[in-house]
Amino acid sequence: MTQTKIWLSSPHMGVNEQRYVQEAFDTNWVAPLGPNVDLFEAAIQDYVDNNIHVAALSSGTAAIHLALEILGVTKGDEVICQSFTFSASANPIKYLGANPVFVDSERDTWNMSPILLEKAILDRLDNGIKPKAIVAVHLYGMPYKVTEIRKVADSYGIPIVEDSAEALGSRYKGENCSSFGDIGILSFNGNKIITTSGGGALTAKNLDTKKRAVFLATQARDNAPHYQHSNIGYNYRMSNVLAGIGRGQMEVLSDRVEARRANYEFYKSRLGHVKEIEFLEEPEGFYSNRWLTCILTPSFEIREMIRMALLEEDIESRPLWKPMHLQPVFEKALHFSDGTSEDLFERGLCLPSGSNLEKSDLERIVSLIIQKLAK
Ligand SMILES: *Cc1c(COP(=O)(O)O)cnc(C)c1O
Repeated sequence: MTQTKIWLSSPHMGVNEQRYVQEAFDTNWVAPLGPNVDLFEAAIQDYVDNNIHVAALSSGTAAIHLALEILGVTKGDEVICQSFTFSASANPIKYLGANPVFVDSERDTWNMSPILLEKAILDRLDNGIKPKAIVAVHLYGMPYKVTEIRKVADSYGIPIVEDSAEALGSRYKGENCSSFGDIGILSFNGNKIITTSGGGALTAKNLDTKKRAVFLATQARDNAPHYQHSNIGYNYRMSNVLAGIGRGQMEVLSDRVEARRANYEFYKSRLGHVKEIEFLEEPEGFYSNRWLTCILTPSFEIREMIRMALLEEDIESRPLWKPMHLQPVFEKALHFSDGTSEDLFERGLCLPSGSNLEKSDLERIVSLIIQKLAK
């Protein structure tokens, strides 16, 4: 009996995506601008917060790059970054010739520890260096401690880049992620909660920040009839074809959040009483889109046993992110860590979490895990 492969998180198209793509063809707006781009941006603004301004871009990584550049990060600067994240949170710091300073997570949300953040800032100030920005991440859809991180950032006057790549649809105290940072970023890569196949967005409280992002993303052309440039620009704008997919996906975003949260609830109802398995609960006031359901096991060995058992059945699961301060490429970077993310990385596993999983898929997964642990 052959069963189909179960992916960790695969694209899930709605109803109107192809229609909006067809519109781009019909009107010949096959370019990195056009009505789909405008309408996609408007839909994101409408969903996240009417007080923000949105620039649709080619990727979340591009959005972080532009955010840091707009905040004035330049060669030799230091930028504080959550260590427990995907490398795309940190790479743009290096694109600008700046250096990341990694800060470990706390247990309640698995995101940046406000205590270690302050420790890092004080240490850098003692060394005569003021960090230029803080990249904080809502990992796996769980919001970081927004109030506490903001308080520390504000007391030292350091702006926040809010990496919401995994957290579209997540909320903190009733407000949507990507509305808290000085600049926020979203990703629409293929594995995210909604996708344009590849894409991202920058969100800003300030209209000038959005305008600056669009200017830099479209080769930084000065206002002149010929091509004139006073800045180094980028080609980072989103295609109007892909924005058509995004428009369709925004129409089903609420369903996608609900489905992912239902996955989490299913796993918890079936595995919550298994003594070897621990879940990350939402603290009071936190609402996660549950982009990926993650579990903690008692040890690396048990984690691997589960992962391999799933793999043998063609079920994709993945260890939690390897912290940046343990990555060979960031070997020389400063870090302020207390072992939290290292421990999560050792013992944690992301389970299949797509919004298009069937009930039978989920049943297959939990049965396998229960069987394996019973042995
Ligand atoms: C996916 C992701 C990014 C990068 O987004 P892309 O659109 O893939 O460039 C950045 N940060 C985090 C935490 C992510 O998961």
